[in-house]
Amino acid sequence: MDVVVIGDGPGGLSAALFLAKNGVSVCVYGQDKTAMHYALLKNYLGFPEINGGEFQRIAREQVERLGAKLVNARVDSLSREGTGFRVTLESGERVEARFLILSEGKSPRLAQQLGLSSEGSGGLKVDINGKTSLDGVYAVGRQVRPERSQAIISAGDGAAAAIDILSILKGAAVQDWDSPPS
Ligand SMILES: Cc1cc2nc3c(=O)[nH]c(=O)nc-3n(C[C@H](O)[C@H](O)[C@H](O)COP(=O)(O)OP(=O)(O)OC[C@H]3O[C@@H](n4cnc5c(N)ncnc54)[C@H](O)[C@@H]3O)c2cc1C
Repeated sequence: MDVVVIGDGPGGLSAALFLAKNGVSVCVYGQDKTAMHYALLKNYLGFPEINGGEFQRIAREQVERLGAKLVNARVDSLSREGTGFRVTLESGERVEARFLILSEGKSPRLAQQLGLSSEGSGGLKVDINGKTSLDGVYAVGRQVRPERSQAIISAGDGAAAAIDILSILKGAAVQDWDSPPS
């Protein structure tokens, strides 16, 4: 697997969308327990009003249609394995990945396990593309912005991390732009 995403809220799904759309193998782990199921979105540009659960349903279908794998499982632990990472599920199953994107939401247990540090009472320290201090590990969404947690921000974070990984894999800046047929 090129990329494993931990977390299936808007941050993780958005990252998976950009990666899968561009032909990168990506697997998202989560059990659809996102806070979005408690939200009524009136602040997501392009959707005047939508129930968070319905938003998730559409997003999950979209991401799967583009080729990402959504797996209903919880990740137990993460460790370095050669030039990539080993992902161990609660079932004991193991998967290997070249890149990790953490989008764990309000309880970033795995980020702590990897030894990633937070900024005071704020979120995890990352650069503008969600890159953490560990090479190959990104973090996005609520776990990097606990006090700025809106779905559209998480989705934007996920997109930026994905584009960064796409650019690394290509060795040149990637613009994910499409135009309508003329
Ligand atoms: C009551 C309420 C109302 C809200 N209303 C709005 C609103 O109107 N507008 C708005 O923009 N936002 C709203 N929000 C906030 C919105 O839900 C969050 O901004 C958004 O869900 C954050 O997305 P995320 O992807 O960063 O994290 P999350 O959506 O929290 O996703 C994280 C996911 O990762 C999973 N996960 C964590 N650890 C693991 C693991 N080890 N293995 C597998 N999966 C794991 C979690 O179960 C979860 O599904 C509201 C939130 C609440 C609680």
